[in-house]
Amino acid sequence: MEQVKNDEHVACQHASLSIINPYELLRKYRCEECQAVLTCSCDEDLALYVLPHQAMRSIDAQTRLPVQVTEPLLAGVCHECRGEEPPAFPTKPHRGAASLVHRYYWREIYKETSHRFIQWVSKQGLPLTGSDGQGVVMELSRQHRTEYEAIERAVVRDMRGQHDKKPKYDFSRQSDSDVLAACEVATEDYPACYVTPTIGHVQVIPIDSGDLESAVGVEEFVSQRLRQAGRKVMLCESRPFQALYATLMWLWVQDPRDSRNRSAGFGRRDGAGQGDLIWTMLPEDFGSPVHATRRADALEEHLGSLPCTMEEMLWVFDYWTPYAEELRQYLWAYSPTDVERGRRLIQILGPEQVKRVLRFLADDYWGRYLGWPDLVSWSETGLGAADVEFIEVKSSSDKLSEDQRYWILKNSEILKLPFKVAKVHRVQRIIRP
Ligand SMILES: [Zn+2]
Ligand SMILES: [Zn+2]
Repeated sequence: MEQVKNDEHVACQHASLSIINPYELLRKYRCEECQAVLTCSCDEDLALYVLPHQAMRSIDAQTRLPVQVTEPLLAGVCHECRGEEPPAFPTKPHRGAASLVHRYYWREIYKETSHRFIQWVSKQGLPLTGSDGQGVVMELSRQHRTEYEAIERAVVRDMRGQHDKKPKYDFSRQSDSDVLAACEVATEDYPACYVTPTIGHVQVIPIDSGDLESAVGVEEFVSQRLRQAGRKVMLCESRPFQALYATLMWLWVQDPRDSRNRSAGFGRRDGAGQGDLIWTMLPEDFGSPVHATRRADALEEHLGSLPCTMEEMLWVFDYWTPYAEELRQYLWAYSPTDVERGRRLIQILGPEQVKRVLRFLADDYWGRYLGWPDLVSWSETGLGAADVEFIEVKSSSDKLSEDQRYWILKNSEILKLPFKVAKVHRVQRIIRP
């Protein structure tokens, strides 16, 4: 019988490429068909003169494993060279790069600045490579900082101009109310009297009270109203969930049977024992979605082994608290208050909901550990907590952060915890004497 073989002489056209790590300056692409790892010829300047140590090597964003480039500087690899629209990978706003142009065009700015700086270096008659043949433009940019920064400012100006004429990325952002409406989040209004001028955080007092002594922040204001209505309230945000996760999941995360667990050192988060490193076992891909899929069976097994009754889950939490100390430090949930509130969440949510929260976090920890609501509120009944609600408190001018938007979206898609927004409105103003 004759078998039809793939013609191995025909080279792969590398038609379907994916970006290995979108946040690397020198981008690598993997061909889905032949698994080749490519860089684009338009990045030649970066590869040869600026980032030679990154030219042949990438770190996979998901698996955190090193990846070797097999076909460097091929023509027509990147989206731009293929005439396609590149996907946007905006960075988070940070000091010195808060504008949308900086956040969306960070790679383009770097690439174009490097390109123009190389031209300037050549014009000065300076060598682009050292005696070992390695590119030295990075060092030169530090030595000629003023020049480099002037070029960069010009590039940013040009990018801004180009964006105004023909935007490459879409900056338009849904409004907060669109996000809330899309996720069917109810908003509750809390009229209040604002104390002005605002010093630091917004402070409010009840309407017509005139009592400046009672001025509190908006979270506390809403908490007081809820307590007056006979409800229980706990300050929440993300830390209690981080403590809950570390304490109930350390056995899965730090499982010695996981071949990708290795010893990792990090600085103490709580500042005690200055300079001391904490050494613990952590999987190399901790917190990425790959971590959860790679260890899906063990995750299933672990969640299945957690108790189904409140009493037993609380017992396990207490029993594991000392063992989870290192992981809690690593996840910044080290304070006794974090642990206490994490424990409280078990009583408020009950074991089934807690397990759903743990799975939600395990599936993409770094993507989901932030943005949790300010407050959790419930009614205390003879049978425990009932009518639980998570509440994000906003004052009139407050906007949702990116993390909060993402949490609201994921909660409505996956987690489905009861959630609403408490909006503290300014209907009166009182001037601080
Ligand atoms: Zn290919
Ligand atoms: Zn290209």
